Amino acid sequence: MIGEIVCVGTELLLGQITNTDARFVAERLAELGIDAYFQQVVGDNRERLAAALRLALGRSDLVVTCGGLGPTEDDLTKETVGEVLGVPLVHDPAVADRITCLLERHGSQVLSRAVAKQALVLEGARILPNAAGTAPGLLVSKGGKHVALLPGPPAELEPMVRDHLGPALRELAAAEGRAASFLHTRVVKLCGLGEPAVEEAVRDLIHSANPSVAPLVTVGETHLRVTAKAPSQAEARALVEGMVAAVEERLRPHIFGYDSETIAEACGKRLRARGVTLALAESLTGGLVGHLLTEVPGSSEYFERGFVVYSNQAKTQLLGVGQELLSRYGAVSEEVALAMARGARQSAGTSLGLALTGIAGPDGGSEAKPVGLVYIAISGEAPLGPTEACWRHVFSGERGLIKQRAAHRSLVRLWEWLA
Ligand code: ATP
Ligand code: MG
Repeated sequence: MIGEIVCVGTELLLGQITNTDARFVAERLAELGIDAYFQQVVGDNRERLAAALRLALGRSDLVVTCGGLGPTEDDLTKETVGEVLGVPLVHDPAVADRITCLLERHGSQVLSRAVAKQALVLEGARILPNAAGTAPGLLVSKGGKHVALLPGPPAELEPMVRDHLGPALRELAAAEGRAASFLHTRVVKLCGLGEPAVEEAVRDLIHSANPSVAPLVTVGETHLRVTAKAPSQAEARALVEGMVAAVEERLRPHIFGYDSETIAEACGKRLRARGVTLALAESLTGGLVGHLLTEVPGSSEYFERGFVVYSNQAKTQLLGVGQELLSRYGAVSEEVALAMARGARQSAGTSLGLALTGIAGPDGGSEAKPVGLVYIAISGEAPLGPTEACWRHVFSGERGLIKQRAAHRSLVRLWEWLA
């Protein structure tokens, strides 16, 4: 079966909102084994929506529309789908009752015209209940084509697809005697190795069609998305696991996690496993590393405190960084980064101190110390006395990106340190 997504809304065309519905529905269609070759975005305009629907129905078996099911004048998806398919709209008393009850329960005003509009359904359509709002979704079939109409707000659309449209499409596939098809995906996340090196290591695997292996790059990380399609969930999973094992065999030291796992979580796991506590000293990142670490539930077990030491005075007062060190080497230097990490560790009484100092820009750079220059230092108490390390990086990009890259890289350094 070939599916196509048609998103309706002038705000999408104007770039005022991000089209997260398309992404969500596309992922679910892929999981259902429905191939999608096209997506369309169209404004709240009846003629253009009708044209988009005709185009979609001409080349796809299933068209999923997102948006335009609400009570207002510019919501015209149902009306237009009805016109294009030649299916009339009929009043559904059960839907009307449900909407009225819902509005009364929320203490909202019941406008009979609005209720009446939302209680119009395409004749013969299957109703897809809306757990989070008023307008139900619809699944209508005619002449071997299927159209699913979904509400625009993601909080309404997402549970509807998961709980109602997905199962309905599986039933449809079974009724039409199509072999069921399941998609399974796993993302292998790597750091400390650039995309070209990762690709080089798995070049032969990337040519595999099922499971497929696709590299993807984000700030400081390379991901390998492994996807398999099979007649059952178990078979799809087995195919993926086999490929993931092959990837692990080649790249294990660089794999910090899977799927939604973050580098901060990976650091947390290692800190916890080693019974190590951590203090931070952040200059240019202004607390960003602390934020990333504390996004992880349970981080209080190993994260003790963070010092945001932006000025030289703060570095001296809170961490005991020597004034002569600051004037001799400058705040952005290996010497100061190490003194910050040491100071954080000693002042907090933790086993590890992690420090960052650098130039986020856009001003303040020089030939010797360019914008983007960052020192990351770790100071730790090893069984045989203190051990320390410092790394020099020059990150590119604008201020925000430099801060993000520096924060991320400091966590990579920490994760590697704890190996
Ligand atoms: P409502 O009853 O809220 O009017 P609706 O089904 O008529 O729902 P729209 O009017 O098209 O949907 O959109 C309502 C809101 O839903 C938009 O303002 C936007 O916040 C969100 N929305 C719509 N389409 C999308 C989309 N493709 N991706 C993400 N959000 C969307
Ligand atoms: Mg609307």
